[in-house]
Amino acid sequence: MIDSKIIIVGGGPAGSACAWKLKQAGEDCLILDRKTFPRSKICAGWITPRVLTALEVKKQAYPFLLKEIDRIQFHLFGIRIPVPTRQYAIRRVEFDQWMVKRANVPVRTHTVKKITRENGWYVIDNQYRSRYLVGAGGTHCPVFATCFGKDEKKPLNAMIAAVEKEYQCDYLDSRCHIWFFDRKLPGYSWYLPKGNGWLNIGIGGKFLKIKKQGTTIMDHWRYFTQNLLSRSLIDRIPEYPQGHTYYLRHRMIRYQKENAFVVGDAAGLSTLDMGEGIHAAIASGILAAKAIVERKEFRADALLKFSLPGIVLKQKDRNFSKR
Ligand SMILES: Cc1cc2nc3c(=O)[nH]c(=O)nc-3n(C[C@H](O)[C@H](O)[C@H](O)COP(=O)(O)OP(=O)(O)OC[C@H]3O[C@@H](n4cnc5c(N)ncnc54)[C@H](O)[C@@H]3O)c2cc1C
Repeated sequence: MIDSKIIIVGGGPAGSACAWKLKQAGEDCLILDRKTFPRSKICAGWITPRVLTALEVKKQAYPFLLKEIDRIQFHLFGIRIPVPTRQYAIRRVEFDQWMVKRANVPVRTHTVKKITRENGWYVIDNQYRSRYLVGAGGTHCPVFATCFGKDEKKPLNAMIAAVEKEYQCDYLDSRCHIWFFDRKLPGYSWYLPKGNGWLNIGIGGKFLKIKKQGTTIMDHWRYFTQNLLSRSLIDRIPEYPQGHTYYLRHRMIRYQKENAFVVGDAAGLSTLDMGEGIHAAIASGILAAKAIVERKEFRADALLKFSLPGIVLKQKDRNFSKR
């Protein structure tokens, strides 16, 4: 049996941000992740400046690909609206590995299956035990299922279905495009060139509404990629997109039960308008670490519910590498 005061299940942005703060406070913690890093994660990889601020890192200090986005081409009912902004694009395979390494805590490859409570310990698969347990295992986090699942239900109307493809190609436009509600999609689709030839294209929408429309996310994907081709934004349709589901922000009764916590996608914290989850994951991971260190209750009330107000750059901030 391996003992650690704190065990974090999942080494994505939520888990590694939590570990990073715990380590800074001198706490003993261990990350368990079912995958070995670097591992891929389905995600567009768009991050806001808030992410860098939360991580206390300057963009120049980030050691991997980080593309500045100073304008987003929004498309709404056939009208193109260029919006000045200050955002970044990263590749999750690099970003997550960087974060987990930066946390500087032990990481073990282990798929968590069974969690039991014994004499004040959380016992994991009869192999690990801890006094505190942080659930950062994403949409299907076993900590959520075991410790919170009885009382908390993730509402289907908050579930997002998404498909995407990140690949290297000679992309034909270096600008970022976002289409809202195209062909009645209850969500949006994106075209995000990241530099070094990497392009991420994808589409996400409310699962229940798509189902009620009698279509599927893959129907929308086929329409979307065909559209990109006919707009000459790509020169071929990529094969094998990957899909994932996650939850937008919704009410949970509690994010902490005894010494167990849920953060990031495990708690369903993505913003209601754009489904931005990386910042919520990092911010909630940091808040959970603080709650453990300061022995205070962990609450997620302070986390942002919307992304769009922060995306549109105000006039005074527009000297950010104008094009
Ligand atoms: C297609 C798509 C595009 C997106 N685009 C964006 C975007 O551009 N910007 C943005 O801000 N958000 C985006 N999101 C949301 C964002 O990806 C998530 O909100 C974010 O990754 C949540 O981080 P997390 O650490 O909570 O979970 P994750 O990143 O999912 O990490 C969870 C970790 O837990 C591990 N794990 C899972 N189960 C177990 C287990 N049983 N045992 C051990 N380990 C386990 C996994 O291997 C993984 O490493 C997107 C989501 C999708 C699906």
